[in-house]
Amino acid sequence: MQGLMMDMPLLVSSLLTHAARHFPDVEIVSRRIEGDIHRYTWSDCAQRCAQLANALTAAGVNQGDRVATLAWNGYRHLETYYAVGGMGSVIHTINPRLHPEQIAWIINHAEDRYLAFDLTFLPIIEGIAALCPTVRGWIAMCDRDRMPADSKIPNLLCYEELIASGSNAFDWPQIDERSAVALCYTSGTTGNPKGALYSHRSTILHAYAAALPDAMGCSTRDSILPVVPMFHVNAWGLPYICAMVGAKLVFPGAALDGKSLYELFEAEKITYSAGVPTVWLGLLQYVSSNNLKFSTFSRTVIGGSACPPAMIKAFREQYGVEVIHAWGMTELSPLGTVSQLMSKHLDLPESDQMTVFAKQGKSLFGVDMKIVGDDGQDLPWDGKTFGDLLVRGPWVVKSYFRGEGGDPLRKDEHGHDWFPTGDVATIDADGYMQITDRSKDVIKSGGEWISSIDLENLAIGHPAVAQAAVIGIAHPKWDERPLLIVVRKAGMDVSKEELLAYYEGKIAKWWTPDDVQFVDSIPLGATGKLLKTRLREQFKDYRLPSA
Ligand code: ADP
Repeated sequence: MQGLMMDMPLLVSSLLTHAARHFPDVEIVSRRIEGDIHRYTWSDCAQRCAQLANALTAAGVNQGDRVATLAWNGYRHLETYYAVGGMGSVIHTINPRLHPEQIAWIINHAEDRYLAFDLTFLPIIEGIAALCPTVRGWIAMCDRDRMPADSKIPNLLCYEELIASGSNAFDWPQIDERSAVALCYTSGTTGNPKGALYSHRSTILHAYAAALPDAMGCSTRDSILPVVPMFHVNAWGLPYICAMVGAKLVFPGAALDGKSLYELFEAEKITYSAGVPTVWLGLLQYVSSNNLKFSTFSRTVIGGSACPPAMIKAFREQYGVEVIHAWGMTELSPLGTVSQLMSKHLDLPESDQMTVFAKQGKSLFGVDMKIVGDDGQDLPWDGKTFGDLLVRGPWVVKSYFRGEGGDPLRKDEHGHDWFPTGDVATIDADGYMQITDRSKDVIKSGGEWISSIDLENLAIGHPAVAQAAVIGIAHPKWDERPLLIVVRKAGMDVSKEELLAYYEGKIAKWWTPDDVQFVDSIPLGATGKLLKTRLREQFKDYRLPSA
């Protein structure tokens, strides 16, 4: 028997019309690359989205066509999200921190029809335009008077002229909710980048689940500043979630240094933010060295790589900011787990609560997960046994765009498909998952695994350590042994012996790194993560003193 409820497709255009209708005067504030502040409302935004959708339709963009962006977090980027997705085309966000050759490769692979870009990225576009035959027009996201005068880019269009050419009424099509809405390529540290192609349905279900109080917990009373870029996994869904709940949305543009962020946090009374650990280092350093406090900032999601407990503690104890530690990946839209306390944890001492916060947390409803051994068999949820983390759910990829990389899924004995995350994790009896490593970063010593994340988290707890990475180095007897690579805090000194002694009593003795190397900086990938492939290359001729 069929239920008798209306069959309305879940579409991102309905998020926009919802926000415009029910939260018309809630603000969207952007720091523009010109440096000034732009402000308007969800109602204004919806009108300009309709104008853009009309203009793109007139320019020949059809349903299913890809329109790319190379842009910072800002209102024009938001308009492109909703106009392109809403009209049934696919918004393809590109990470400008990738190498230009890789950007061109991705554009060609996606067969993008148009590409909208912030002027910051003009040199990239000038370099690659001739290599991208599918692109019919390059849209500079600026006013007419800022258009580059002597650019050699063919078919260079002005974003504001396009907007001005379209009427502000657009009938958002009621398409199949399983149609594609957004495309994001993984950074591809190995092999070619692979595209995760999100549907309207997966995007809306992800937004519902992520907005819940025990997930990311977003509300119309929040003023939300996503530091996490809109060019990487849709800024963790925040542009959609904010429309769903009617939150004020504040975009930092290109100014991601501690001072600029702090000033925007204060001016716009930010209550909530989200970003990877490396961006918070800059903000925390700025507030601590200038003896500042936050007046309204009270919660932040941190994920993308393990959030060191020292950072969670600093936010909580020195600034009264609650850290919501989350795990996810491009292939998961991205949110998979979030670490929030359960009732039974509320009376625990702070140090025991910290153990919970340091984990990557419990599954959202909609993400099923398990850990398995090499034989594919389920491993126990005892918080100690670790294995390959597998997930499944309605916002998890089933294959990559245009079949790149083959079938990524694994079938279990019940015939269910699972997506192997490439992460190695434990799960405890309460269902809290903890990542010990990415499988390719695991250090195998004498047949046993050492967690590089645990060793990094501990090192970062040392007051003189700014950044730490641990990699495995070949060893004649043990296969691999850990090497700790450290960036010292400015003006601070610490020796190898002090750092190694700092591990005493905190880990099994055999986990202690064999050596420490001090460096000026640690290479970061396009999404702000420690680039261990680069480190392994840098240290390929290095010999451990114990070898
Ligand atoms: P990319 O695949 O381009 O590196 P993703 O954002 O998709 O970018 O990376 C997902 C990976 O990031 C996860 O598989 C995991 O290894 C790591 N990751 C994400 N969040 C966390 C976290 N909270 N703790 C530890 N690792 C994390």
